[in-house]
Amino acid sequence: MREFGFELALCAALEREGHLVSRQLGGHVHGRRVLDTVVVHPTDAVSRRAAITPERLPTTAIEADVGPGRARYWKDAFDCHPDRAERATELAIERGFFERERHGGRTYVRQTARYPDWIEGITAIENKPDLDRPGDLQTQLRTDVSLALVDRVVLATADYVTRAHLNRIPDEVGVWRFDPESGDREIVREATDLPTDEAGVELRERKPLRADVRVVSAAEKASARTRLAERAYGKGWRSFDYPPCANCSPDADGIPHCTWKDRPVRASEECGPDCEGHEKADAPTVDGEALRAERTPWDPDPAGTRRRQTGLDRFL
Ligand code: SF4
Repeated sequence: MREFGFELALCAALEREGHLVSRQLGGHVHGRRVLDTVVVHPTDAVSRRAAITPERLPTTAIEADVGPGRARYWKDAFDCHPDRAERATELAIERGFFERERHGGRTYVRQTARYPDWIEGITAIENKPDLDRPGDLQTQLRTDVSLALVDRVVLATADYVTRAHLNRIPDEVGVWRFDPESGDREIVREATDLPTDEAGVELRERKPLRADVRVVSAAEKASARTRLAERAYGKGWRSFDYPPCANCSPDADGIPHCTWKDRPVRASEECGPDCEGHEKADAPTVDGEALRAERTPWDPDPAGTRRRQTGLDRFL
């Protein structure tokens, strides 16, 4: 449970610095890797991205051969399974990225705005408050560095970092010492920029005496980076519940602090009538969206980029 509170405190500290932060996102292409914390560093074009929708946009729609000019017959615009193309088209329309027109009984689509080049870089952070319980840390960090899906990989810890600790992790990995109480962050070692625009090698599974690896092309990585950044943009980091308990007192960042345990709590695992401190109450209401909007370029309620309302032509 210490890791949960540590992770939320780090997310809050990074958000207070104006970063787009998210957590628990897939950081793989073919394998299975969940990244603890993801920070997307935007370019100035983020305001144009924010103007489209506060939600995730489907990568399939972003990569489709659909522009903001002349509308195209939707089936001609995708190079993938028609079901996937249809799902992406519907979602893109719903979220105001595509608008549709009807020509000769067929649906044509165009972008409401050109998808901007808004992703400057991505940092993935592995949270390990307690370095004496490293778990699978070395393998995870080696996998991230070797795939190089993100620009920088960082290990964040609350512990004092010794030379021996540093020697056990790949040289490219940056190391931060973070104090979840004060929010102070010390950069013990800078992360090295990874070659995100080259092919990478992904560890898919490690078995005794055998590692299942796969080469991932630069194009596959580019696609997965867009997907990761879009997920981070849409999700944010406050994807947890607040317990319906009088002892939950969210702090100024919206972290679900429990006054009885005197630490942040994960409601889904720790809270309920079985907890000795439980006192039934309404779950606290926190406007996490307002906090995020105030501190970062994310806009919860943009005017949208649709040129006209599509009301009668919902037929895809
Ligand atoms: S249920 Fe227990 S752990 Fe959860 S907020 Fe209440 S006192 Fe704290």
